[in-house]
Amino acid sequence: MKDFGVSKITVGDSPAVSSAIRVAKKSGVEEVCKKYGVDIVDFNTPVKVKGKFGRNFELSREVLEADKIINIAKFKTHTHMIMTLSVKNMFGAIVGLRKSAWHAKTGTNKMRFADMLVELYETVRPTFNIIDGIWGMEGNGPRNGKPKKLGTLIIGQNGHAVDFIACKMVKLQKVVPTLLAAEKRGLLSSKSINLVGDSLRIFDDFIPPDTSIKGITGIINPFSRFSAKFPKVNPDECIGCRICEEHCPANAISITADDKAIVDISKCIRCYVCQEVCPQNAIELVRKNRYLR
Ligand code: SF4
Ligand code: SF4
Repeated sequence: MKDFGVSKITVGDSPAVSSAIRVAKKSGVEEVCKKYGVDIVDFNTPVKVKGKFGRNFELSREVLEADKIINIAKFKTHTHMIMTLSVKNMFGAIVGLRKSAWHAKTGTNKMRFADMLVELYETVRPTFNIIDGIWGMEGNGPRNGKPKKLGTLIIGQNGHAVDFIACKMVKLQKVVPTLLAAEKRGLLSSKSINLVGDSLRIFDDFIPPDTSIKGITGIINPFSRFSAKFPKVNPDECIGCRICEEHCPANAISITADDKAIVDISKCIRCYVCQEVCPQNAIELVRKNRYLR
């Protein structure tokens, strides 16, 4: 961007916990920003916006006022949405804790949540999208995933197409809810994607999240009631910080007298936000039968 003479460049985010600056520091992004004189901003000023399909959003002013947006997502798994790529990454345009409210509104219905993400993406419409899969993540991301070297960068103007290619590389293109929602809205036609650059690499050994386990037919079904998993707190790891309680959109978490979090699974909508925000990795996902043991 500097080489193209862009006068003001900023890097920003609205992470579910902590701040954009702290995240940038930890990830090494801050160092690069310093080197090039680029500011890091927290997306923390909400503005009411009517979405493309009619939903009411509260989006970050910092995002809305940008002339051009480059959407940079990591290539990674997500226990709730199976993969979190360009489209899901725009959830960062919703300021802080307001993200949890969308989980509460959409409940256990993954497709309703995915359709909201597609609308959000279409409302913000980044200029182009980059998925960084040089080192990606497999398994139970984003909190409990494992690094996976994919050696891949996927770049394109249409985030749905970019996400489709990423999912095709790991054979998940038929089950990721945001892709299915985009298809339903007529925003993604896999046959018309024009892939240039290196030919498509397929990673047969990529491990999807446990929440998308294969059924008896061998086909991954992230919507199956039988594969539903619930968060369970490991009391040995829990430090009672209350971050999960604060972020749970269903008020399903409480803290016991001995400062341990417990989940009321009758209220839980399986959004897995608690697992994502827990700084101790104290929350695992288990089937209901294991829960009751
Ligand atoms: S966020 Fe993690 S450590 Fe904090 S109370 Fe919840 S389970 Fe315990
Ligand atoms: S307990 Fe966890 S998974 Fe269940 S609704 Fe609350 S944040 Fe979501």
